[in-house]
Parts: sequence; structure tokens; C-alpha cells
Amino acid sequence: MFIRFWGTRGSIPTPGEDTVRYGGNTSCIEVRTDDGELIILDAGSGIRALGMSLLPEMPLDCSIFISHTHWDHIQGLPFFTPLFVPGNSFTIYGTPDPVSFKTIKDALSMQMEYRYFPVREAELKSSIDYVTLNENQVVEVGAAKVSTIFMNHPVLCFGYKIECNGKSLFYTGDHESYRNIYSHDDDDYKEYEEIIIDKHNNIVDFMRGVDVVVADSQYTTEEYAQKIGWGHSTFDKSIEIAQEAGVKELYLIHHDPLRTDQGLDAILKDLRKKYRDIGVNIHAAAEGGTVEF
Ligand SMILES: [Zn+2]
Ligand SMILES: [Zn+2]
Repeated sequence: MFIRFWGTRGSIPTPGEDTVRYGGNTSCIEVRTDDGELIILDAGSGIRALGMSLLPEMPLDCSIFISHTHWDHIQGLPFFTPLFVPGNSFTIYGTPDPVSFKTIKDALSMQMEYRYFPVREAELKSSIDYVTLNENQVVEVGAAKVSTIFMNHPVLCFGYKIECNGKSLFYTGDHESYRNIYSHDDDDYKEYEEIIIDKHNNIVDFMRGVDVVVADSQYTTEEYAQKIGWGHSTFDKSIEIAQEAGVKELYLIHHDPLRTDQGLDAILKDLRKKYRDIGVNIHAAAEGGTVEF
């Protein structure tokens, strides 16, 4: 399996001299399976440049899996040139919205309404199928299996596991480590604690033994104290869950917009020292970076 990071930034694109190395584009990962399938995880602003790189390969047959419909994970889609070219085929997968009962197609169509974007959806001349998925669903893409699990985020968000020819990748999308919202002396504390332990263990089981994990790690533990409930994990929590699941290669992603390259270098250095004996290789996902396994 081969992956290339096209967008590693969380929340909003952050171009500039301080983010040149780890990248300023929002979430987008290109995945190539061993049998030649093209899978794209999320359609943040990074998907624009990915689209340009794919032009020589057209006609394309490609599966796009959207973790959730927050802007930073879909905002690049209207700028993904291959969508406008006849002969290309796409299947776009994503979450339902349990509040509005809207589908993934509705969510993506909305951002192409005239008031937000000047080109009409009807001008997308490729063939596009939209598929709204549920949890624990398995989609076959060639010889690859892509399966879903709900993560902890303010909207429904999928973590996706891709397995092909004995290799596997898990991408969390956006995820905040589960925490008990009740205080210790509250009557509901114990029951809620059991629920979240269960949910946490489900994720650990789902990612157990995966070759590579790409995990939302937006905050340091100190920063997180001010960002509780915003839907993102800390570096420490991502490393702990990777260790618990027996994962060897961990890529930290969804870098905070305020995080400079130098800042991330320093954090990475400290993390590798702190966790040097746990058997998890810790990397920070960098735009343009590739992983082959
Ligand atoms: Zn995000
Ligand atoms: Zn989000």
C-alpha cells in the first residue's frame, strides 16, 4: 500500500513561511492499494493539487471517502478538476446527518450552491455516485476492503480502515478521545464511564494490529485544557491508543492552524523521547510526504 499526504492541516488552510514543511492544506490523503485502486480520504483543500497530479492518469475510477462534512474535510472538492472531466468515474462515500436527515450528496451539493460557488453542480461532467454509509459497513474497492467506525466528534465522523493484500491503514478523521462529562460524585458518572470505556475499546479493537495509523492529534495536552469538546485529540492520547492497539507506525495529522513547523519539530522531539520505549514509531504527517508498506 502507498499513501501520500496532500493536506495535513486541521480546521483552515494555513499557507505561509511557518507551515511550508508540514503543509498548510487541509485534510486529504491519497491511497494506492497493491492492486492499483485509487482511494482518496477526505477532500480538504489538499485535494486540489492531488487533482492536478491525476490529470495524466485520466480516465479515473476513484473512490473518495469523506470522514465528515466539516468544511476542512470537503472544501477542496469543488476545485478537484477531475470531477469536471467526462469519462472519469467517482464514488463518494460519507456520513449521514442524523439531525437534518441529509445525505452525503446533500451536504456536498450545498457547498456548490450559487451563493457559495460560481460553477453549477451540473457542470461536474464526470460520473459521480454518492453513497451514505453507516457504522460497521464494509465497502469493497477492488481487492481492498474499506470499513467504518464512528469516532467521537461534534458531528458524525467515520474512522476508515483500509485492508488489502494483508496490509492495513486506519485513518481517524477527526476524533476527540472519550472523556467522562460527569464529575466523580455525580450519579451518572459510573454508567457514563462504562459507556465510554466500551466505545474506546471498540476503537482499539477496530485498529488493533493495523500497519499504519493516521490520527487527529491537533493539541498538546496543555492546549487541550482550553479546547475540551471541540472534537480533537492530543498527541499523548493518539500515542496511547496506538500503543494499546499494538500499532507500530503512527502519523500525527490535523495540525493546529497555530502550529509552526518549528513548533511541531520541537513537539515531535519531546514525544519521541517521552515514548521511546513503547514500540510505536511516531511521525508527523507532512504535505507531500509518502509512506509505502
Ligand atoms: Zn477537521
Ligand atoms: Zn471536524
